[in-house]
Amino acid sequence: MEDQREKLLIQKETEEEDVVFNLSLRPAHLSEFVGQKETIESLKLSIEATKQRHEPLEHILLSGPPGLGKTSLAHIIAHEMKTKITATSGPAIERAGDLIGILTNLGKGDILFIDEIHRLSSVVEEFLYPAMETFQIDFVIDKGPYAKTIKFNLKQFTLVGATTRSGLLTAALRGRFGMFFHLDFYNEGDLASIVKRSAKILGVEIDEPACLEIARRSRGTPRIANRLLRRVRDYAQVKKSSKLTVDIVDKALTALRIDKAGLDEMDRKFLKVILDNYNGGPAGVESIAATLGEEEDTLVDVIEPFLLKAGFLKRTSRGRELTEVAYRHFNIASGKTKSKTQKELF
Ligand code: ADP
Repeated sequence: MEDQREKLLIQKETEEEDVVFNLSLRPAHLSEFVGQKETIESLKLSIEATKQRHEPLEHILLSGPPGLGKTSLAHIIAHEMKTKITATSGPAIERAGDLIGILTNLGKGDILFIDEIHRLSSVVEEFLYPAMETFQIDFVIDKGPYAKTIKFNLKQFTLVGATTRSGLLTAALRGRFGMFFHLDFYNEGDLASIVKRSAKILGVEIDEPACLEIARRSRGTPRIANRLLRRVRDYAQVKKSSKLTVDIVDKALTALRIDKAGLDEMDRKFLKVILDNYNGGPAGVESIAATLGEEEDTLVDVIEPFLLKAGFLKRTSRGRELTEVAYRHFNIASGKTKSKTQKELF
């Protein structure tokens, strides 16, 4: 009963809360951005060089799993370039017409941030090509025999595109970007620094080992690290603990069913389907999605990348397969059979 109540207490979360929370913790300068050293170094260099030449930046494509800092980076770039940023997303731009207002309002050097850029419709994408390349758009006014195409000159803006699936981008769109950066999962040390920084901003007292424990269980992802920090803070508050320690972190995360490796319920369900229904694999992602009743895109964008990176899963030409690491994690002999107690571990 007590446990159940705890779970409810620490699970409550509204999207709006999350948005406000993320905004307050978002790094504003390159110097505050933890990790991703190579990306940050080359961005810094390009920003400095273009500023010296008084030119706008080339178009930039940021790729990588969700929650790793693509949106934050786009805002930081605008901040460092001292320009304005307009943010939208692929699915939000339904028609080419939706883009006209946005593009014509951009000033020289302004940043247009398009999240999930791989989800732009082909019509919108084609409309973007001349805007990106020659800073011109063509729009048609009137219909039928009176239709006229008008060319409109835009200011030299910088498009920053973000995608979780760079493989889905057309070659034509990809070719129009001048710089490409891939963000990878963060190591524990970097995530622990992010947790420490966020705790400071939130005025939460936390010790180093507790920062590391949250880092270890955050699936290599700053957004998750921040979310877990908030959940642990709630737990500590209810338990009348003023300081976050490893013990509190462990209790709070265990109540949330986040295991020692940071896997959550969805990760375990995913692995369990491969184990139970496909005897450890190989299994096609479409069939796994159908069994779980989940969108295939969610599995490929959100769940799989970390499981692959952490070595629980491997992708072969025949499908997804569990690895030794997965069997070991769940205490199952790799003979692919499991006892009842082992099954309960999932
Ligand atoms: P994405 O656009 O890749 O999904 P976001 O930029 O929205 O990711 O990042 C999610 C949250 O994680 C941000 O609000 C920020 O608080 C935090 N974050 C991401 N990357 C970093 C970083 N390198 N340093 C500090 N905080 C970060």
